[in-house]
Amino acid sequence: MRYFDPFPKELREDADYAATPQKAIEYLTASVVYMPPDGTQKECGNRCMMHVEEGENKDRCTIHAPDVFVPDKASCCFYIKGPAAPPDHPVKKMVEPEFSGLVYGEVTCKNCDHANEDSSVCNLLTSILKTQLGHEGAVFNIAPDGCCNLNTGGSTEPPEQEV
Ligand code: SF4
Ligand code: SF4
Repeated sequence: MRYFDPFPKELREDADYAATPQKAIEYLTASVVYMPPDGTQKECGNRCMMHVEEGENKDRCTIHAPDVFVPDKASCCFYIKGPAAPPDHPVKKMVEPEFSGLVYGEVTCKNCDHANEDSSVCNLLTSILKTQLGHEGAVFNIAPDGCCNLNTGGSTEPPEQEV
């Protein structure tokens, strides 16, 4: 089961975090780290700035723990396109895979069981809006290349590492 933070820090101080449908959507967006598409393919090996491609930390991520294997085809919601991290960059645990949405596969909505047929609506988050946050008519809109940390589109079990 993936991570759902009921009180993300962005909204922790806001007593009216779900007072309106728009606020409830903003709250859920922060809770599950929903990221709209930015035109990039969110794969570690597609030059994510946090991916170490060479050296003793090869296939590690600078923001996940040193024992978290991130091969090229892994992906998470924190992807940022840029030059890959240098080989000597420290690798420190700043985020858990459950929060970043790390999967061994594509993290996108179009691969997720919770997306509707054309990946325009998230059925799971829409259901939470209605049943838990009290906004019957609200809809959580998504895009095929969006992503969040509840994604079901890839395994959470790492593949075997080549030695
Ligand atoms: S796990 Fe996420 S942040 Fe780390 S290298 Fe992969 S896409 Fe980037
Ligand atoms: S379809 Fe899946 S990845 Fe997309 S927002 Fe919904 S739960 Fe998250």
